This record gives sequence, C-alpha cells and structure tokens, in this order.
Amino acid sequence: MTGPLPEDQVEEVYRRLSQAMPGRTRGAKGPKGQPDAFRSCISCMLSAQSLDRNTAAAANALFALAKTPQDMLALDESEIAEAIKPCGLYNRKARNIRAFCTALLADRGGVVPDTRQGLMALPGIGRKCADIVLSFTFGKDVIAVDTHVHRVCNRIGLTDAKTADKTAAQLEQRSPRWTLRDGHFWLIQFGKRICTARAPKCETCPVSDMCLSYRAGQKG
Ligand code: SF4
Repeated sequence: MTGPLPEDQVEEVYRRLSQAMPGRTRGAKGPKGQPDAFRSCISCMLSAQSLDRNTAAAANALFALAKTPQDMLALDESEIAEAIKPCGLYNRKARNIRAFCTALLADRGGVVPDTRQGLMALPGIGRKCADIVLSFTFGKDVIAVDTHVHRVCNRIGLTDAKTADKTAAQLEQRSPRWTLRDGHFWLIQFGKRICTARAPKCETCPVSDMCLSYRAGQKG
C-alpha cells in the first residue's frame, strides 16, 4: 500500500463523506466558549480509553460535585477518583484533573485558553483534547483526531501516519479549508458506522474505489 492519496482525491473523499454522513454538524451548534471549555477539557481527560457512555456517566457524577476549577480542588483526589470510576484509569485521571485545575488557576486565572499552544501547556491536555476544545467549544476550524478518525484516515489514505498526533498534523496540511468545520463529524461518524475497527463494511463503503487499504486487500 502506498500513500497518502493525492490532493484531488483527498477532496473527493471528503465530498463523498459529507454526502454519506449528513446530520448534526458543529456548524449548526456554534461555539459555546467559557465555562463550557472547562467541562470540555475535563470530559476529554475522562474519555481516554473509555467508552462514550462510561465517559458520560463519569462526567455527570463529577460535575454534580464540582463545576469550576475551584470546586474541583476542594475535592481530594480520592473523592474525584470515586466519582469518575465508570471511565476507568480513575486514579491517574483524578491526579491529572487536580493538576490541570491547579495550573489553570495559577497560570491562566481559571480561564481556558483558546489556542492549541495554550491548551497543550496545561497538564493532561494533549493534541486531541486541545483540538476537540478548539473545535467544539471555541468554534475554530480544526479537525480533531481521535481513535476513529485516526483509523479511518490511514485506511483510506488521507494520511499515512502511525500516531493520532501525526495524523492530525498531516490532516491539517492536506485537508481543503471547506472541510475543516465539519470534517471531524464526517470522519468520526463514518468510522463508527461504516469503517468500524473490527468489521469495516467495505462492500457498501462510498469510498472503497479510492481506499488504499481496500485496494491493497487489507481491510484492517
Ligand atoms: S473500503 Fe473498507 S477499509 Fe476502506 S474506508 Fe471503506 S470501509 Fe474503511
């Protein structure tokens, strides 16, 4: 398999995905800003290696106890860990949440920054979390790369990267501007419904004729 796909084919892939995966888009919801940014950071930290429903359960339990960085630091690590148990890795995540809140208050006066550099300077925030917050909370044109987006992009050949962060960097360079607003939605929905991790539906896939993985006979 050689890749990635040339730019004109990248645009065609996006065009087809945008038609195959319509529905809710970030553009329809609009940016939310603070204090949603704080909740987004915490939710993203909780989501590492966790199913969506478990992340939501942990986030709901935690935000019922604390809604601000100050509230969060009034809890000790074990109280946070107990609340977020459903999402797994709860001891490490509780530690990270306290470190994040401490730095947010000390370095940023409690205000979540709206730049990738600023976000990634905070403990527990990597590129994926930073891009999710930038896109969904601050309304920036950024395609956030999670495990689904990483898998789909490298199967199709939009990118040829080994890590999610490298996929994000390549996507940023290779995606046409018009795709940046809602590209995350198209790719993630496509990854959940069609190009799934274990059993991709290649026979009904709208981009199978372009997909490098399929053309090479490698469906995983
Ligand atoms: S052809 Fe198969 S592997 Fe390729 S993008 Fe479609 S579902 Fe995924």
